[in-house]
This record gives sequence, structure tokens and C-alpha cells, in this order.
Amino acid sequence: MVQIVETERITAHITRVPLPLPYDLLSMNSYVIEGQQGLTILDTGEHNEETKAIWQQIIGTRIVEKVVLTHGHGDHLGCANWLRDTYGATIYMFDKTVERMEHLRYGYEHGYYDNLTTKVFATYGVNMPLREISTDKDLRPYIVEPDVVFTTNDLIALGDDMYRVLYTPGHADDHVCFYNEAHETLFLGDHVIEAINPVLLATPYFLNPLGAYLASLEELRTYRVQHALPGHLQIVPDFAARVERLQAHHLKRVAQTYEAVANGHATLEDITVAIYKKARHSTYAQVVAMLHYLVAQHKIQRVETSTFPIFTLLT
Ligand SMILES: [Zn+2]
Repeated sequence: MVQIVETERITAHITRVPLPLPYDLLSMNSYVIEGQQGLTILDTGEHNEETKAIWQQIIGTRIVEKVVLTHGHGDHLGCANWLRDTYGATIYMFDKTVERMEHLRYGYEHGYYDNLTTKVFATYGVNMPLREISTDKDLRPYIVEPDVVFTTNDLIALGDDMYRVLYTPGHADDHVCFYNEAHETLFLGDHVIEAINPVLLATPYFLNPLGAYLASLEELRTYRVQHALPGHLQIVPDFAARVERLQAHHLKRVAQTYEAVANGHATLEDITVAIYKKARHSTYAQVVAMLHYLVAQHKIQRVETSTFPIFTLLT
């Protein structure tokens, strides 16, 4: 049975397509941008039969010119290979996402799935498998080879309009947004979402995602944005106000994390439970981001012990 998705017309050329996610209550927003050369599809949804059936229904007999990706997470690029194979689309990818793909491919060829964020948790004595990544999951659809690689500040056409590539690390180290000044349109990916706070994912090569996130939020805050188009949930109605709420939220969490450390909570697990009550992947990720930020700000220190590092106030 083909699920009917409720698409939303944003402008004469841009349509939001919410695609279901199998492991989550949220859907993922893909955007279809119509141009003279065909359709541009910004982010693709998970790789599964349901999503493909929705795409077949939406695309119909039209030409898919391009697939453009905001970052390398599976829910955003899972159908990219299939869209290229089926419709002959050209895949556009950010240079840092290419690095992520190389890492994923190396793991695949050597028989393992290497989650870089859980690797960071493990350094603090927390071992946590990801529920959506079962060991027998076929990773091949998620290893995407680009046709065109773009970099920070490049101008690329989405449909018939030119968009600036804005590097916005935080949620992921390979994350970009796309901005068109004339139409005040900003494709946000997972950088800014209306009703949830995007999880910030540290990796061994990207240890301070919150520092990067706050810096890129501050830069985007000044942009004039009429259409703020996120990768999940509804359109962001007031972009500047949402950015300010996100900034305030993170600074509050930073203060709470500092307080937890000041109160003698020292391990990642302890600090996470002190702040969030529940320790799970997303809360560990937030706390790692806060702790690394506080270390970078010289507010707390990371102390090596005989087992794993702990955190204390600077002495
Ligand atoms: Zn993501």
C-alpha cells in the first residue's frame, strides 16, 4: 500500500515532502524544487520501499535533475543512490560529507559499522549500541558516491535559483545550509528545527560541536529569512526568534552542566543522570557536547584516571 504523504507548497517552485522514518515518530522533510532542467531533490529520506513508493508517486514522469544533500546522516541520504539509479539524477555532496562516506565505506569493507559518536562515549566508559543500526543492516545504500562535490561558500543552483552553501557544523561536522538572499529562503537541514533541539554529535575529529553550533547560529541569526525550511517538522515561522531560543536553551544547559560538575558529578554517566534523569544516546550526546564546550571555555577540566577520564572544576 502506498502511503499518501501530505506535501506542502512553500512557494511557486518549492514543495515540502515529509517522508516517514521507520525508527522514529518524526518524519524527515525533503524539498522538491522545480526548475527548467527538472526537479532538484534536497535530502532524500530513509532507504526503504515505503519511501521509494512515495517518490515514485511524487516524481511521476518528471525529470530529476539533481539530488543535493545537507549532511551525511542516513535519513537524509538513504534514497540518493536509488534516485540516481532510477531517474539519472546527479548527486551533489559537501566535501566533508565525502569524508564521512569514505569512513563509512572503509568500515563496510572491513566488516564493521563504526559510529563515531558512540566511540566518544566509550572513551568515558559508556558503551551504547545504536538501536537503529543493527549489525546486519545493509549499509550499501548509505555509502553514496557524489557526482559533484561542493564546498563552503560555493553558489549552487537549486531549481532555477542560486543558493550559497553555508557551513553550519554542530548537529554533524559535515552539515550545510543553503541560502538564497533574493527570496530570503534558507534550507536548514537539521541545524534549526522548530519544536525540538537538534542533537549535537561529537566525533573523535569534532570534539566541540556546541562551540561550532553556537558560532554558526550566531552567524545565521542576522540573515533575513522569510522561508526557514527545516529537515524535520513544520516550517520555522520566526527564524530569528527560534535561533534566540536555541541559544538560550544551550546556555541554560551549559550552566546546568557546570553546576552538576561543581556538585561533584564527575563521570559522563553521573553528569547525564544528574541533568536529564535518563541516560540514553541523545542525552549522552548533549552532555558530551556541554562538557567539551566547558573544557574549551576553560571552565572545567578533563582529568585522566586509571580507568577513563572524568570532569572536575578547574583547580
Ligand atoms: Zn541528521
